[in-house]
Amino acid sequence: MNNKYELIYEGKAKKVFSHDDADKVIIEFKDDATAFNALKKAKFEGKGKLNCLISTRIFELLVEKNIPTHFIGLKNENTMIAHKIKIIPLEIVLRNTAYGSLCKQTTIKSGTVLAKPLIDIYLKDDELNDPLLTKDRIELMKIISANDLDLIIDLTLKINFILKSFFKNIHLHLVDFKLEFGYDAENNILLGDEISPDNCRLWDLNQKNDTIVSLDKDRFRNDLGGVIEAYSEINRRINDFILFNKK
Ligand code: UDP
Repeated sequence: MNNKYELIYEGKAKKVFSHDDADKVIIEFKDDATAFNALKKAKFEGKGKLNCLISTRIFELLVEKNIPTHFIGLKNENTMIAHKIKIIPLEIVLRNTAYGSLCKQTTIKSGTVLAKPLIDIYLKDDELNDPLLTKDRIELMKIISANDLDLIIDLTLKINFILKSFFKNIHLHLVDFKLEFGYDAENNILLGDEISPDNCRLWDLNQKNDTIVSLDKDRFRNDLGGVIEAYSEINRRINDFILFNKK
């Protein structure tokens, strides 16, 4: 990155830089991958670029459907321009199918299709290991107002509705995903962070039987190999779909 831009924040998978316009930021997607609260680390060449391109397409789709997001545009293959937001320290997870931590912490069997989407909210705090919260705990910690929490939940359900059907078109099942929201300079709530195979579980629907083929970060978490191949496949299907539908 050009050193006229100041590094404002560095996370596990992204770097955030200042922009000439104080209300905007430049987000650089890194090739680093972490799992289990960064206990497991690796680097995958090309992951940053793939996640940036995938996120761009998804944000464009959401903007088209009037979802307020921080996304402004792609700067180059691994950087995007976004509205500067103050991230709300909550991780909003929506689940369509039971998998991952839900099955470790409850008696719900892995792979159970949920009758309605389940929203689990976690505290974004690595030191506390991102604990699961309750509405009352959120209120107690005064993280956001009850009204804003309802707004975020409503947006998350809308985003699921849009993304589930979009991914189905490209033969992917959206198992679950994690979102982050923030406030812009005018105090509007915007969807932030990224939407990519790093924070969505996507299962391939092009399978003859019920075998689960993960095309997401579970390939890294569970040492399945083929991380870049899986992310490239998601990117390819998204681009083919967009190209085909433009004709
Ligand atoms: N997730 C994420 N960041 C986190 C934890 C979870 O992006 O710090 C995503 C994860 O990729 C999955 C969804 O949120 O799509 C639900 O994850 P889960 O709670 O099952 O946790 P995990 O099994 O990944 O520990």
